Amino acid sequence: MSTSFDVIIIGAGPAGYPAAIRAAQLGMKTAIIDNFVGKDGKNSLGGTCLNVGCIPSKALLDSSKYFEHIGGHYKSHGIQTSEPTIDVPTMIERKDSIVKKLTSGVAILMKANGITVFAGTGELDADCKVTVTPLDGSEQQHLNADHVILASGSVPIQIPGIPYDNETILDNAGALDVNAVPESLGVIGAGVIGLELGSVWRRLGAEVTVLEALPEFLATADTDIARAAQREFKKQGLDIKMGARVNKAELQGGRVVVEYEQSGETHQIVVDKLLVAVGRRAQTAGLLAEGCGVTLTDRGQIEVDDECRTSVKNVWAIGDVVRGPMLAHKGTEEGIAVAERIAGKKAHLNLDLVPWVIYTEPEIAWTGKTEQELKDAGIPYRSGSFPFAAAGRALASGDTAGLVKVLAHAETDRLLGVHICGANASELIAEAVVAMEFHGSAEDLARIVHAHPTMSEAVHEAALAVDKRAIHRVN
Ligand code: FAD
Ligand code: NAD
Repeated sequence: MSTSFDVIIIGAGPAGYPAAIRAAQLGMKTAIIDNFVGKDGKNSLGGTCLNVGCIPSKALLDSSKYFEHIGGHYKSHGIQTSEPTIDVPTMIERKDSIVKKLTSGVAILMKANGITVFAGTGELDADCKVTVTPLDGSEQQHLNADHVILASGSVPIQIPGIPYDNETILDNAGALDVNAVPESLGVIGAGVIGLELGSVWRRLGAEVTVLEALPEFLATADTDIARAAQREFKKQGLDIKMGARVNKAELQGGRVVVEYEQSGETHQIVVDKLLVAVGRRAQTAGLLAEGCGVTLTDRGQIEVDDECRTSVKNVWAIGDVVRGPMLAHKGTEEGIAVAERIAGKKAHLNLDLVPWVIYTEPEIAWTGKTEQELKDAGIPYRSGSFPFAAAGRALASGDTAGLVKVLAHAETDRLLGVHICGANASELIAEAVVAMEFHGSAEDLARIVHAHPTMSEAVHEAALAVDKRAIHRVN
């Protein structure tokens, strides 16, 4: 097997594997090294996203959504069914088969593009040399390349003194593999994972308590959107306790005693399972040999410039291991851009417009600035919003929760932020990203013809509302 390459990529998640494909498309001799071990004990490409992140969580979100709809929402449509039951092992098997299909698909793509795959841990030495320690215990291999791309991703943050066993105290991987609905589930952190996976198990019948240290719900989202979402989650029975910082959790008699501080007092809950979802940190353990020269930030991320160059010539870093949002699509676009830069092409990626999506019901999605950010920066703006309850299609489908909010510059009308809480927000946000990438104005969105009846009409009406001329609500 060859040991000399144009490009070596360490990490085959959604940042690394698209970078490998693009590099191969551009004619470079490419290798990728990955050490993720799947449920079958073998290397499974696709990283956190395909194995224990985006895809499996969405599979369970969809299964649990159908379960909840049959049990509740369908009745108002006149659909009568007997009380549904959930066969959790079948749901998990379905999720696993989707993961298998996609991760095997990545392996097929590697082969089809002539990319050499090493199943093992890659360590960067000086001068773009890489040592591979194979997962099968065979001898180390020494590779070299003109360029190395580091794409080692991230791992869950642990709270000191609360170790996961992934049976009772779970991280994201454990929470995707529970084999029966727990009667009670505690969740530490009302962030993206806490809300998505908390929703899965609540829909299936668990009593879910979410403990969030911050006083403000979804502090990174626009306040109006966060409030609308919080109201809906409360109605659904998700018990979210704000300003509740967890410091301690202990196994006692097969259950977990969780201790948290709220308003200066210590409280306790006892739950059957506990999900710890308090953020993720860059994964650099075993990646950088001493003397390789790559520097880290004080947050432990690999230091890069705007174009993903590290402190070492011809060594690049992309995805969760560097600054910016820890999102699959952000890493993918960075990977493609870096491959193009290596090939001498110009590449463009606007981190300011990376869309965020939270796949709860209702979904939450946004791009650009929030109203709080505009206020803090002293940027003059106008705001328009439109509730889904006033949109015909939303009423027809029973998806009336939430709203669209459009923020535009007060003088130039340029779009500054679009925020959505509602069904299909994950798809609707794409229109806003396109409009904003093309430096569009609220007027542009307002003048574009939107099909009737669709949920996208709420985006149109919110853009009209910026100029106080929404049609289906009083301005
Ligand atoms: P990773 O996906 O973490 O991949 C890194 C790979 O590198 C892994 O396979 C790892 O084993 C391997 N590796 C690490 N070190 C080495 C080494 N030294 N040698 C060899 N291999 C190594 N994002 C979204 O955009 N949408 C979502 O819906 C979404 N849902 C999520 C749900 C959950 C439960 C979680 C946990 C995350 C979710 N994310 C989502 C975040 C998303 O998964 C990450 O942003 C994304 O996977 C980061 O991609 P990456 O390629 O940088 O790293
Ligand atoms: P997060 O940063 O979204 O949320 C963590 C929350 O935990 C924060 O609100 C924080 O205040 C709280 N917290 C921290 N310590 C605490 C303590 N001791 N007690 C109580 N609360 C505490 O992190 P996450 O939910 O773990 O997700 C990690 C990352 O994975 C996300 O930031 C996102 O980048 C990615 N992700 C994305 C998606 C998506 O795009 N739909 C889904 C899941 C994960």
